Amino acid sequence: MAKLDEKISGIYQDVLKRNPGETEFHQAVLEVLESLGPVVVKHPQYLERKIIERICEPERQIIFRVPWQDDKGKVHINRGFRVEFNSSLGPYKGGLRFHPSVYLGIIKFLGFEQIFKNSLTGMPIGGGKGGSDFDPKGKSDDEVMRFCQSFMTELYRHLGEHTDVPAGDIGVGGREIGYMFGQYKRITNRYEPGVLTGKGLTWGGSLVRTEATGYGATFFIDEALKVRKDSFDGKVCTVSGSGNVAIYTIEKIHQLGGKCVACSDSNGVIYDEKGLDLELIKQLKEVERRRIEDYAATHKHAKYIAKGNIWEIPCQVAMPSATQNEINGKDAATLVKNGCIAVGEGANMPTTPEGVKVFLDAKIAYGPGKAANAGGVATSALEMQQNAGRDSWTFEYTEKKLQDIMCNIHNNCYETSEEYGAPGNYVLGANICGFIKVANAMVAHGLI
Ligand code: GLU
Repeated sequence: MAKLDEKISGIYQDVLKRNPGETEFHQAVLEVLESLGPVVVKHPQYLERKIIERICEPERQIIFRVPWQDDKGKVHINRGFRVEFNSSLGPYKGGLRFHPSVYLGIIKFLGFEQIFKNSLTGMPIGGGKGGSDFDPKGKSDDEVMRFCQSFMTELYRHLGEHTDVPAGDIGVGGREIGYMFGQYKRITNRYEPGVLTGKGLTWGGSLVRTEATGYGATFFIDEALKVRKDSFDGKVCTVSGSGNVAIYTIEKIHQLGGKCVACSDSNGVIYDEKGLDLELIKQLKEVERRRIEDYAATHKHAKYIAKGNIWEIPCQVAMPSATQNEINGKDAATLVKNGCIAVGEGANMPTTPEGVKVFLDAKIAYGPGKAANAGGVATSALEMQQNAGRDSWTFEYTEKKLQDIMCNIHNNCYETSEEYGAPGNYVLGANICGFIKVANAMVAHGLI
């Protein structure tokens, strides 16, 4: 762990005391605070105005009961969350995660990271996150619909295009957004596309939103490789996960001439030396909602490694696209030892602090999630723009905008890392660059 600046370490101790047991939130806060030492030296008013303390305290946290009935009529109770973290740059914006691991500490880490990620996009969006400990795995469409309707029956009163605009995250895709949008419309009697993003294309959605996080992470690493006079062409890559982020990361890497040889789910890893067959993965995961193990039934040459560790497979570029803390210090060391030269985080906080240290010490091109995976939320902001203008843009136009945004994020992070004496350290660059914009807006808005 880098040493915290003396003035900042007290703030971190307070965060620990005020938020007991929320380990992921502590981890996300510490990672940002470690970058801010030189910033408060340059801008003492941030300490005087207690900007860091205020950023660490959500503006509003909503926790609610979500009752629903399964197909047999049995009643279940889940817990719903929406943490409205910071609105200095725009309405709260961030996804909803449905996963059994969800509790307040996970939503707060995600909401906290979202503040800086959204700031980096350059779009007018604040930071928030929500979700539930509901597990969509194995549930019927009707069960998912009833859950989403119950969830929205409470959440709708907190939303609005100028207030709070959720989207998807793990366990929440087009199907869930559809059910929630339908319930919002029914309760309010208003057709308000601007209230959710990730919508279907015929009812207010944006082209490229589905692809955006994976494409964006790949564009970011492409820029980082360009700095090193390198490219994806011919690179062997591994991509953890097999959900939305992983699928479109693989797609873009293949378009740029790289070869993805492995992906995974929570049960195991698929290794296909010939390069992954993306059409098959899309069919299995997006259409049939099956497990990745079934890939090997169609492609006999591919290997399924039950409970395997994808980071042990040698690669030049690794794209963690599953979930938080999926790369520990040992995994990071294995990747570097096996010749990995770039890591792009499509997932949120997929690398533990020990792993981050390994990547930074090895000076590989390491794109932390809050910069590398900002393409998803950036394209959500493009969806909001189209909704506000009752417009819909072409795929090419929207993808070009996404690419420009990712290129800007990369360049801003790189220039900030240079300015603060650590060229190529995108962790420092992203944290400082994301923070300063929010901090300046907060100073301008006064003590609120
Ligand atoms: N859940 C995504 C993220 O982590 C997207 C959020 C959004 O589009 O609002 O950034």
